[in-house]
Amino acid sequence: MPKAHNVRPASALERTLHRLEDLCRERGQRLTRPRRAVLAKLLSARRPLSAYELLDLLRSEDGRSTAASVYRTLDFLMALGIVHRLESTRSFVLCEHPDGPHWVQFLICRRCGQVVEAEDERVAAATERLGQRLGFALDQHIVELTGVCESCRGSRAPH
Ligand SMILES: [Zn+2]
Ligand SMILES: [Zn+2]
Repeated sequence: MPKAHNVRPASALERTLHRLEDLCRERGQRLTRPRRAVLAKLLSARRPLSAYELLDLLRSEDGRSTAASVYRTLDFLMALGIVHRLESTRSFVLCEHPDGPHWVQFLICRRCGQVVEAEDERVAAATERLGQRLGFALDQHIVELTGVCESCRGSRAPH
């Protein structure tokens, strides 16, 4: 057992990949090598990536990667609920709690690009009511909010 302070980022990445692999299996799918590669890139980037950023990263390891294959893989991962698409920045981010379908709110820092995924039922209920009031059947329950994150604002939460 490695000591907590000795855990390298790579091993944390491996653990998360294993967890996602299990999740795929539970849903009757396989985390193939290209799918795993996309997840690994999103995991280690720690920020949303566009499909073309992903393609650049993947091509440096596997010259056969194409835009079409990256989009196919992203579609698969989104259908599985492991990856979300951010409409405002046309980028993709790993889901922080991929255990089931959920309505999400994203808080996006416009300085560093950091994204926080939140799941606030009151916001979800409010958007549903708004849709009903205006006669919209909502098919996406994703709210994207932009601003400046805590560390970019120079303040830190007390420990
Ligand atoms: Zn999510
Ligand atoms: Zn920031």
